[in-house]
Amino acid sequence: MYCTSGTTVQGAFDPLDRIADVCDKHKLWMHVDACWGGSVLFSKKHKHLMKGIDRANSVAWNPHKMLVAGLQCSAFLLKDTTNLLKQCHSASATYLFQQDKFYDVNLDIGDKSVQCSRKVDCLKLWLMWKAVGSMGLAERVDKAFIHASTAMFLVAKFHYHTCICLCGQPEFVNVCFWFIPLSLRGKEGTEDYQEKLAKVAPIIKERMMKQGTMMVGYQPLGNKVNFFRVIVLSPLLSQKDMDFFLNEIERLGKDL
Ligand SMILES: *Cc1c(COP(=O)(O)O)cnc(C)c1O
Repeated sequence: MYCTSGTTVQGAFDPLDRIADVCDKHKLWMHVDACWGGSVLFSKKHKHLMKGIDRANSVAWNPHKMLVAGLQCSAFLLKDTTNLLKQCHSASATYLFQQDKFYDVNLDIGDKSVQCSRKVDCLKLWLMWKAVGSMGLAERVDKAFIHASTAMFLVAKFHYHTCICLCGQPEFVNVCFWFIPLSLRGKEGTEDYQEKLAKVAPIIKERMMKQGTMMVGYQPLGNKVNFFRVIVLSPLLSQKDMDFFLNEIERLGKDL
């Protein structure tokens, strides 16, 4: 069974304990895609989002996302009592990974992966963890949540002027919203409203890149047309930057 802790676009968390109950009952492998959300485990305040993760058989996690490790830093963790990865992937090349060495050859991971020679991502994580400690990493997570609530507060304030509209209540730090240009305000429900709204984010994105002021992503999702998604991870950013960000979107889309 495949479940997600922090979906990429909206940041939703599956109820892991309940899924683990189903997996136990039917003897299913439980894999958790925690690429995006896994880092909440560092935060005392937010780790409840992943309650039940200890019952997973395997977990994927990207410290290069929320913890801001340099790209790429990805981990695949599994409870492995049978040397499963070796059974799955080993090519047992006779010219590599000799078995009659003086140490535990299980430490050689090259023959356990689909590919063989790859970068040692975990070294980045280890160095970062050593440098800032578990508390430093927790602080990164907690700050991202604070930035997200600031962004939501500002979006709500702009919403008062009906130019920025939140699309879904965030569970995590993904703040997703539409910018409603002047020509579309108060026209919700009219015939080509959605079609016109879908074109707004790509135009603003093009302008922000060409003018070199910001980089903010957008995407559609299901029946929701293109919306912006902002996630603020840098602890160096402040309220002032958040104000700039929303004012800038409004400036770039003023004539649309
Ligand atoms: C980013 C992300 C991935 C993909 O991670 P890569 O390391 O880029 O392959 C998978 N799942 C979720 C939920 C993600 O956010």
